[in-house]
Amino acid sequence: MQPKNSIVHLPVYQPGKPLEEVKRELGLTEVVKLASNENPFGCSEAAKAAIVAEVANASIYPDSFSTALTEAVADYLNVDRKQIIFGAGSDEVILMLARAFFVPGDETIMADETFPQYKHNAEIEGAVCVEVPLKEGKHDLPAMLAKVNERTKIIWICNPNNPTGTIVGKDELDAFLSQVPDSVIVVLDEAYIEYVTDSSFPNSLDYLKTYKNVILLRTFSKIYGLASLRIGYGVGHADVIGLVNQVREPFNTTRFAQAAALAAVRDTAFVESCRDRNADGLSYLTGEFERLGLPYFEPHGNFVMFDAKLPSAQVFDGLLKRGIISRARWSHYPTYIRITVGSREQNEKFIAALEQVLQEAAVHG
Ligand SMILES: *Cc1c(COP(=O)(O)O)cnc(C)c1O
Repeated sequence: MQPKNSIVHLPVYQPGKPLEEVKRELGLTEVVKLASNENPFGCSEAAKAAIVAEVANASIYPDSFSTALTEAVADYLNVDRKQIIFGAGSDEVILMLARAFFVPGDETIMADETFPQYKHNAEIEGAVCVEVPLKEGKHDLPAMLAKVNERTKIIWICNPNNPTGTIVGKDELDAFLSQVPDSVIVVLDEAYIEYVTDSSFPNSLDYLKTYKNVILLRTFSKIYGLASLRIGYGVGHADVIGLVNQVREPFNTTRFAQAAALAAVRDTAFVESCRDRNADGLSYLTGEFERLGLPYFEPHGNFVMFDAKLPSAQVFDGLLKRGIISRARWSHYPTYIRITVGSREQNEKFIAALEQVLQEAAVHG
């Protein structure tokens, strides 16, 4: 058997540790998963009801074009329906972009660290990844621009950036986009946009009016709390989205996902309440990190990446023993941990556990 050369070296994706597994392994009854940036408040009640109602149609293929959902999201964003494409999570939109645009030898530019799926899908298609180090946890747009050449196909900007939580502001992005050649696609991954409250954050929909080469990625997995259903979308110029549609699988999103997302996008009160509670959580956590003397990157999503000043595997294990699943082992940040903002109670439990881990390390030197 001879697989594609481009996949031989690829690791299998390592998700955040599953709750049930941790409970079993450690004999704990209560475990809090703050590893995958899931919504601690679940999803909209209207979305739950829509899922239940859809059970009656389980035997029927979904609408290939997600017509009702496309209309609702297009109205919500004030764009044309032809500008939107749905995927099984925005992960699948990343896959479709890679599949539609990369040929072996193309170059693609991304930050290091950032969301791993850009690199993963680019490599499968034989594209060469040009990774540009973050600067103080932020995208270094001038350095990324300097890497553009005639082989560059796609530039990925994760805003807010996963895992650091930092944002690229409007002025910076305006300047950057005005200098990127229009033959290069710029993907703005806005998986956490609904959490952002900072006024310098760009209204990326405005860019779509000027730039045919800009594509936005959004998801129902994060603030909408529908991660298990796998639904996200891309927004761009109708011609570009049309091309991506040509590689889309016929029934790539399920009836349940479409129905739940339709209900979720209409329930703006749920989103607002999650954003507010998340903002409270962020200020609580950053306040505690300051009290503990632990540096952190300025967070704009529903997670914080902080410097525990100890090997991250040690902190990860210490937290795990105390029933907290975090995310560790970032290659350039060996002492950093990414923690998802939980409910008030979960955040307090996390901080109490973290203090114990730090104390234990201090005692044992
Ligand atoms: C979670 C996440 C996604 C995608 O999530 P889906 O569940 O596939 O929609 C995309 N980009 C970033 C930066 C994320 O953190």
